[in-house]
Amino acid sequence: MFLCAFLLAIGMDLASLQKIAARFAPTEVSANLAGLPAQEKAALAKIVEAARLMDPLYLRQVWSGNPPLLLELSQDATPLGRARLHLFVLQKGPWSSLDHDAPFIPGVPFKPAEASFYPPGATKEEVEAWQKSLPPGEREVATGFFTTIRRKPDGSLGWVPYSLEYQDLLGRAAQLLREASQLTQQPTLKRFLAARADAFLSNDYYDSDVAWMELDASIEPTIGPYEVYTDGWFNQKAAFEAFIGLRDDAESQKLVRLSAELQGIEDALPIDPKLRNPKLGALAPIRVINLIFASGDGNHGVQTAAYNLPNDERIVQERGTKRIMLKNVQEAKFRKTLLPISQVALGAGDRKNVSFDAFFTHILMHELMHGLGPHQAAQGITVRKAMQEAGSALEEAKADISGLFALQLLVDKGVLDRALERTMYVTFLASAFRSIRFGLNEAHGKGIALQLNTLLDAGAVRVAPDGTFSVVPVKIREAVAKLTSEIMTLQASGDVARARDWLKTVGVIRPEVQRLLDKLSNVPVDIEPRFTAAERLRSAESH
Ligand code: ZN
Repeated sequence: MFLCAFLLAIGMDLASLQKIAARFAPTEVSANLAGLPAQEKAALAKIVEAARLMDPLYLRQVWSGNPPLLLELSQDATPLGRARLHLFVLQKGPWSSLDHDAPFIPGVPFKPAEASFYPPGATKEEVEAWQKSLPPGEREVATGFFTTIRRKPDGSLGWVPYSLEYQDLLGRAAQLLREASQLTQQPTLKRFLAARADAFLSNDYYDSDVAWMELDASIEPTIGPYEVYTDGWFNQKAAFEAFIGLRDDAESQKLVRLSAELQGIEDALPIDPKLRNPKLGALAPIRVINLIFASGDGNHGVQTAAYNLPNDERIVQERGTKRIMLKNVQEAKFRKTLLPISQVALGAGDRKNVSFDAFFTHILMHELMHGLGPHQAAQGITVRKAMQEAGSALEEAKADISGLFALQLLVDKGVLDRALERTMYVTFLASAFRSIRFGLNEAHGKGIALQLNTLLDAGAVRVAPDGTFSVVPVKIREAVAKLTSEIMTLQASGDVARARDWLKTVGVIRPEVQRLLDKLSNVPVDIEPRFTAAERLRSAESH
């Protein structure tokens, strides 16, 4: 495969590059800034400028060859050069994420698993042995989120704090955040921005993470070093990213309304009453925002539609995490991928009932349902521990299917509009094909396959002779309740052997589903966002 990928890169012409890029549909991702007071708009413009700096920071972190390559590409005005630059910016590097990171620019190496967090020429074993040899306090810093590992002049290894390693760009970002902090009139936002500016310079992120958890403002910024997946050696080092959004008040109110119903839903779960939780704990905070700008690790390849932060264990233990859901990103994905999929996948009668409102309301319910149902397994340990590697596919399937169960319950109670009944099952069916397209390696894909096949076996979804799928209204309710019951009861039993067996036999792609997936090859896989509101902010600033 590697040799193949390399040859491909050497010969990659304009048409091939354009074909790769076409899998991401250019889409406007924006929000209405009209409601923001001038002072807040000015603060937002500064925050977005700081967020732009996460791009060069992240490029540097991914591969030390990225900055010079970007310079070279941006000087090539030929159509081939333009296409290379476009794809490079989209992927934040010369490798195609949907093609096992195959290089698309000739002469570049394979994507380094260690990124640029460790010294050139060092091996994983050498770094690991050195980290283990350190006294505990030093080891914590050397293996921490916010240091790079470098070689000293004498050849031994040492760490460098991010505040020093990236001081040029972090210094500028801190300055911009401080200016934004002085502009905004919203106290919690003021505090977060000032604390994060300090963190960029001190390398101590704790206070600013606490301030981020306490944010209660119309502007919701996430900016800094967060996820560790870029560090393919140890998942230790955090990559820079930013997501800058505006709070969606209507959806936030809907969330409050749904949250108020949770105990009632728990009490009505279709499981043995002994497995229900008579008193649900406090909810982890959820924010619904519309994205204005994303950068760095937060903007390459397939776009993030929701995230949980922070990752600092101390804060997770003290306060839990906060979940941010990007509504306009979900809507863009819905329009550019889910609607076209539904045109191919669904029977003619069902197509007109696919709706974004149903899609997003189900996503909200999915998040809430993670907190419901059994979390303790029969053997006295958590479900998560008991189910091991089979756990996440099952948990995702639980949240999906019990989310439908809960929405139906709320429709019946009159909390949600009756019209949802017509749209939510059909929309869920279309979204199932979108998820399965990403493959079954990922927990969500496997969980979706399990649900789709179970609904097919129950006769609640059927396949027409022309290969399209339809919901069978008279059977879907009962099938959804039954599968909710089966998954939750299995989780409570802690029977990992049964879970594995079930996923292995039912969490698969069947021929009728594969035939459909084959017909979707021209539908984009995801979006390429165009942040038009952020552009408008920028031009307003410079005039
Ligand atoms: Zn989930």
